[in-house]
Amino acid sequence: MLKLYFVTLFITLFFTNSGCCQKVECFLPAAYKNRTTVDSLKLTSIGHFGQARKARPNIPAHLHTGIDIKRPNNNYKNELIFPVAGGKVISIRDDGPYAQIIIEHQLESGKYFWTVYEHVSGIRADIGEQVNPFKPIARFMNKDELNNYGWQFDHLHFEILKKRPRPLKPTSKLPYRLFVTYSLKCSTKSDLNNYYFDPIDFIFKFTN
Ligand SMILES: [Zn+2]
Repeated sequence: MLKLYFVTLFITLFFTNSGCCQKVECFLPAAYKNRTTVDSLKLTSIGHFGQARKARPNIPAHLHTGIDIKRPNNNYKNELIFPVAGGKVISIRDDGPYAQIIIEHQLESGKYFWTVYEHVSGIRADIGEQVNPFKPIARFMNKDELNNYGWQFDHLHFEILKKRPRPLKPTSKLPYRLFVTYSLKCSTKSDLNNYYFDPIDFIFKFTN
């Protein structure tokens, strides 16, 4: 009975504080054992923030605007992805290897920041939904999907934006893709710094 009381108290406190303007606390976006320290994070060998990416067909040369996070539990069926903090889902594209979720968050100061989760699958969040860091919003691609789209997508591409993503007119094919990020617009360090936080610095700041 006492246990139930504390669980209820926790849920009440958590949800009454999960609106805007609460102190932001960040958690890692994947199911690492300890989601409260950046020391747990494992990135792919070319998955660091700001790394130079060469031009490819349909993709200009650019600096990597996020980090590429490895799946923490070697789970190729249902490796879950979580928001890093409470916020509101503002854009979803659910169309294969570039499937993406964008979440808007507000800091205590009233300022906003935006997080982006890309190469995701099994999306379980809706536009306008208030999300929290303990309920999954998607998963890493499973084995069948990677065999289909390519194993270069075997990671979570994660970004943190300083600037509001650009609004996009939705199409009938992608009705919930309402915003687009600046991931191909950063060719210099100054572009990168203008649009993006270094995710590791940012998470470090808000988990400590
Ligand atoms: Zn990436």
